[in-house]
Amino acid sequence: MRVSVIGCGHLGIPHAAGMAHLGHQVIGVDTDPGKVGALNAGRAPIYEAGLSELLAKHTASGDLRFTLSMREAADADVHFLAVGTPIDSDGRSYDTGQVFGAVRELAPHLTRPCTIMGKSTVTVGTTRRLTELVHRLAPAGTDVNVVWNPEFLREGHAVEDTLQPDRIVVGLTNDHAEQAVRDIYAPILADGVPMFVTTPETAELIKGAANSFLGLKISFINAVADMCTASGADVMTLVEALGIDPRIGAKGMMPGIGYGGGCLPKDVRAFTASATQLGTSDAETLLRAAEAVNENRADYAVQVVDAALDRDLEGARVAMWGASFKAGTNDVRESPALAVAGRLHQLGARVTVHDPVALDTAARRHPELEYADTVEEASADADVILVGTEWPEYRQADAKALADLVTNRTVVDFRNILDGEQWANAGWAVHRLGRPSIDPA
Ligand code: NAD
Repeated sequence: MRVSVIGCGHLGIPHAAGMAHLGHQVIGVDTDPGKVGALNAGRAPIYEAGLSELLAKHTASGDLRFTLSMREAADADVHFLAVGTPIDSDGRSYDTGQVFGAVRELAPHLTRPCTIMGKSTVTVGTTRRLTELVHRLAPAGTDVNVVWNPEFLREGHAVEDTLQPDRIVVGLTNDHAEQAVRDIYAPILADGVPMFVTTPETAELIKGAANSFLGLKISFINAVADMCTASGADVMTLVEALGIDPRIGAKGMMPGIGYGGGCLPKDVRAFTASATQLGTSDAETLLRAAEAVNENRADYAVQVVDAALDRDLEGARVAMWGASFKAGTNDVRESPALAVAGRLHQLGARVTVHDPVALDTAARRHPELEYADTVEEASADADVILVGTEWPEYRQADAKALADLVTNRTVVDFRNILDGEQWANAGWAVHRLGRPSIDPA
């Protein structure tokens, strides 16, 4: 099929490459000339495992290309909408300007039957409003179907999740549109992936509810981690024991410095705003509690660092290991590690950040921080090392060799990934969230 992907960001690029991989002829549209140029040269402006290879292969074969021109994309059978839905200036609801803007630009070019498949995360009710707009603006009128097909990919696993999703959800009002969805995803459906065909409102709410639940789960375990700290209990053992119960499950329940990224924080906020608009006060209260726990995490982390240091924060040298909001991506949007690093800098600490792939994206957002290409460089003369992102290489760091580089052998493992005993045996004071500290051996 001929496919367009409108909006080439963290969702759109893996999706465009994935659709080419499924055998479709794909054209990606974006408003950013730098991005379009890099993508046409087969270069990915974001880091995701396997993405560069997929892009290079399909741009070289001609199955995948990118353009700045919406008109060039107009004769596709299916148009995926993957533009951003950042938080509005009110700080709570989605700014759907990119979604409505892209559709206003596309619709006048639609002269024959086709399907618009929305993938961006939107407020409940958006699909019906967009349908009215498209039917008014497109020359093909009601022959253009609008369906909502929310995306559940996890950053850090974007290619894998695009090609092997755990489910496909599609909200539609017209049975005709279902066939287009089945055709486009035929190879995936043939693998037995379940597809839920429902109303647009249910599809929109499924996505918001999924991310809000993930946010609730993280805030829950962070709140319980604080109870562990206060009582001397061990949150990691607690998670393991809780997770055995299949009704709870350990996945997505890692205690730490809070959830971040381009999705969870804004999606919880916007879902809370929807609850308010819908007059469902219990949902609003529950979601606000999850947000409040998350918002307090960075300040709490700073208190932990302050208590762990045997000197004033002002002037202290801090090594922050990790800048991306989680491992496997160079996305630093609402990164908890950078939020903590930024606060420490404001309090007068000298913070040097290391990350295996996110130094450029981090430096653009936080130019006030210092950056280092290696863990050793970041840690030289440090008064404290902080593990802010759960990159596997940090787990393997050599505690003995690092001990000779730092001023003080103090580490705060915000992600609970280090082997605390091993670090203590190498002479380190090890501090963790929700677990007892370990004194140097
Ligand atoms: P992003 O900001 O990385 O990408 C959005 C892209 O759209 C940008 O490249 C921007 O230049 C482009 N754009 C904006 N207006 C345009 C227009 N009129 N025409 C063409 N391109 C335009 O955002 P993202 O992280 O990819 O997220 C996109 C949507 O997908 C959001 O609604 C998000 O909530 C949702 N989502 C994201 C993920 C994820 O892992 N990032 C997962 C699931 C859902």
